[in-house]
Amino acid sequence: MSNNTDKMHEACGIYGVFSREKMDVAKYIYYGLYALQHRGQESAGIVTTDGSNFRSYIGMGLVPVVFNNESIFKDLSGNIGIGHTRYSTTGSSNLSNAQPIISNTPFGTVALAHNGNLTNISELKKEIKKKRYAFKGNSDSEVIGALLSFSRQKDLVSAITSVLKKLKGSFSIVIMTNNKVIAVRDPNGIRPLCIGKFDASFIVSSETCGLDILGAEFVREVMPGEMIIIDKKGIRSEIWKKSKDPAVCVFEFIYFARPDSVMNDRSLYHARVDMGRILAKEHPVVADYVIPVPDSGNPAAIGFASKSKIPFSDVLVKNRYVGRTFIQPTQEIRELGVKLKLNPIKQVIKGKEIVLVDDSVVRGTTSRQIVKLLKDAGAKKVHMRVASPPIIGTCHYGIDMATKKELVATNRSIEQIRKFLGADSLGYLSLEGLKEAIAIPNSPMCMGCLNLKYLA
Ligand code: SF4
Repeated sequence: MSNNTDKMHEACGIYGVFSREKMDVAKYIYYGLYALQHRGQESAGIVTTDGSNFRSYIGMGLVPVVFNNESIFKDLSGNIGIGHTRYSTTGSSNLSNAQPIISNTPFGTVALAHNGNLTNISELKKEIKKKRYAFKGNSDSEVIGALLSFSRQKDLVSAITSVLKKLKGSFSIVIMTNNKVIAVRDPNGIRPLCIGKFDASFIVSSETCGLDILGAEFVREVMPGEMIIIDKKGIRSEIWKKSKDPAVCVFEFIYFARPDSVMNDRSLYHARVDMGRILAKEHPVVADYVIPVPDSGNPAAIGFASKSKIPFSDVLVKNRYVGRTFIQPTQEIRELGVKLKLNPIKQVIKGKEIVLVDDSVVRGTTSRQIVKLLKDAGAKKVHMRVASPPIIGTCHYGIDMATKKELVATNRSIEQIRKFLGADSLGYLSLEGLKEAIAIPNSPMCMGCLNLKYLA
């Protein structure tokens, strides 16, 4: 069983620190990446500089697995650094695709870490191959470094700007040189990025939870189309491309980002509780317990329970230590499936009507197993409630979900999905309900996979 829980997968966490004091920032980055672990579990890396030499340590696996020894940090000296946790969207999962990526450019050595996915990758690769560049890996992030290395601009900021203008798709990027950290967001701001301050250091993080772990103060988000340049003089902003259609990914609000993060001034926890509340209003039901699919369904289930006045019960117990296992189950335990991760408390469930709340359903295969698990545990009825609208399209901006054919909600009516899941009733949050729960006026979101309206 892989770590795939039939969820969409996030496409990386990025982090950067610039300290104006002579101090080593690698441990700050380590803890920042630890907080961003949910955004990518395949590899982790840190690059630092003391102003002259670049030092890097990159490996496969979770952040504490890669950085498993105090001596690693002795070699990662320097007051400037960036870090990355990877989930591969394009490019295979191996060390040559791990980040940050280091490139030699006409402006000196630069390292970069990227969250997102470029949609014009083949055309960019063709351009670079003509210049006889030898790719080390096959990730689209390496393409950004390669484009920088061939730049003919007069300075680094102009070079970055001209490279960014060639990119299509989603990208939040943090770049470091021997005296700067530069943070940029694509003109739609599809993937998040924020700035914080901690003593004499500025921090750049995919999410605010990466600031909280250090006790850093949130300064603001990097705006769509903005470039933030941090050096010893302080922080300055340039608009590298005017943003016409800001459109953060709505799944950051539904599932990807941690509930303790804040985006567009909205607490993601509160937004998710409200998704559950509105879901209860839209699809009321009589039942004995509201049960979340842990942990991502927890806030919505709390909201559903509070609105419906049905008691909340966390009786699907999650094994928190399940990571990725390559051990195949034997014939006798082939049905292991979701049981490796979740076990219901039969004594509570037996003979009861259950409302099962999840944040989203992609292929429906895991939801179907959980419904069966509850029925096998003696539940009289299982009413499935989903705190997001049906996913009817794939993502064009870097999120790994499933092929269109695999999505349970394409080409199936709600009744057909209910039958597929084996639930006694099924209700999804409406698009209007989702917007109401997110409650950010005048801040359009990308909802492409929910409404098939993709950005140009
Ligand atoms: S298509 Fe869906 S997953 Fe992709 S960016 Fe838009 S809302 Fe997010």
